[in-house]
Amino acid sequence: MNIFVVGSGGREHSMIKKLAMDTRVSNIYVAPGNGGMEQEATRVPIQDTEIEKLVAFAQSEQIDWTIVGPETPLLDGIVNAFQKESLNVFGPTKEAALIEGSKDFAKAFMKKHHIPTADYETFTNADLAKDYIKEKGAPIVIKADGLAAGKGVVVALSVEEACTAVDNMLVDQQFGNAGNKVVVEAFLEGKEFSLMAFVHGDRVYPLVPARDHKRAYDEDNGPNTGGMGAYAPVPDLSKKNIQYAVDHILKPTAKGLVEDGRSFTGILYAGLIETNDGPKVIEFNARFGDPETQVVLPLMENDLLQVIEDVTSGKDPDLRTKGGACVGVVIASAGYPGPYRKGVSIPKSLTDNSDSDCFIVHAGTERKQEVYQTSGGRVLLVGATADHLSQAREKVYAKLEASQNNEDFFYRKDIGTNA
Ligand code: ATP
Repeated sequence: MNIFVVGSGGREHSMIKKLAMDTRVSNIYVAPGNGGMEQEATRVPIQDTEIEKLVAFAQSEQIDWTIVGPETPLLDGIVNAFQKESLNVFGPTKEAALIEGSKDFAKAFMKKHHIPTADYETFTNADLAKDYIKEKGAPIVIKADGLAAGKGVVVALSVEEACTAVDNMLVDQQFGNAGNKVVVEAFLEGKEFSLMAFVHGDRVYPLVPARDHKRAYDEDNGPNTGGMGAYAPVPDLSKKNIQYAVDHILKPTAKGLVEDGRSFTGILYAGLIETNDGPKVIEFNARFGDPETQVVLPLMENDLLQVIEDVTSGKDPDLRTKGGACVGVVIASAGYPGPYRKGVSIPKSLTDNSDSDCFIVHAGTERKQEVYQTSGGRVLLVGATADHLSQAREKVYAKLEASQNNEDFFYRKDIGTNA
């Protein structure tokens, strides 16, 4: 079968690695992809937002399935466009993807369908937002309504900080149209985890829970990033709370989307927080998480394509999880998430895993002859599976410590230690 993956990050490389193990898959294409994917896939020079060109490519190459990684094309209607041409595509329509694309929509949806989340109000007027903040007090959370690549959320520890965030978004339009509305949300306390599920209409098939590390530096210091590492499963999370999240969050969300005429097919990702009153929703994403996917897919026994085919044809995919745990640590460009250099050569000791039982997932890399160079902030992820989380972590850090020290790169030394 010919499979077409849309995207270029670590999440997509992880999907490609999984697809490449499937004997039914004969060709994998990826648009636009990254340097590290060239071993398993053929890169296609089309950006993930060039929907018409992606449709034309799928038609001309007789693609059997297209799988969409990132959120922007989903919200731009890539699935609607593929479906219009009767092409098989895995992902939600733009109407269903709004659960990620608008935080105001997601909050109103959760309120309507009684899905546990923080109390909130939405504002377009800065003065009214600030009055509300003064009434509620700090800590309080300010969120730009639209997509802001993980940067549109401010957890404000003081009323002043919260009011500044409101001004930045509503008055100074720091996030453009994405910040035309702001959600002001109650601060929730607890440990966070991510729960992803294959969803088709009201059918929900959850994957193993994971936890990512969003802050740039050890012990959760520094600015928020796209994610500096992750692990799965989450040992401190009780079976009861996982079941609660499936029954009271994922299932009613899928059902509510059907009822509202926005039936969801694809990966529904719930970013959750374990409060004293049980798990509550921090955010929904309408696609696989990054870097959670890189540690969840290696633990999934099933073939990814078979699961997609089963789920979308109304069959139970019988999801099976391998025992053990998986840890992944992101290697980032020095300076990330601020400005960083591109085109830096990556030491072979980092990209070559023939000497260890780790796996390497590429994100911001390009290949120049036999050398990989950086092309993004998050460069690659070194991961390992083992019977226990601590063993998986030891394998990853043994490889990283043995790799040449290099001031062009950094990584967190504590991924998985908060489990
Ligand atoms: P990303 O795109 O990176 O997944 P995002 O921009 O959609 O993130 P959220 O996931 O909603 O933003 O929030 C980012 C982080 O801010 C969360 O992981 C959490 O740590 C913190 N946060 C968000 N909402 C709350 C809340 N109500 N209470 C406490 N912390 C919160």
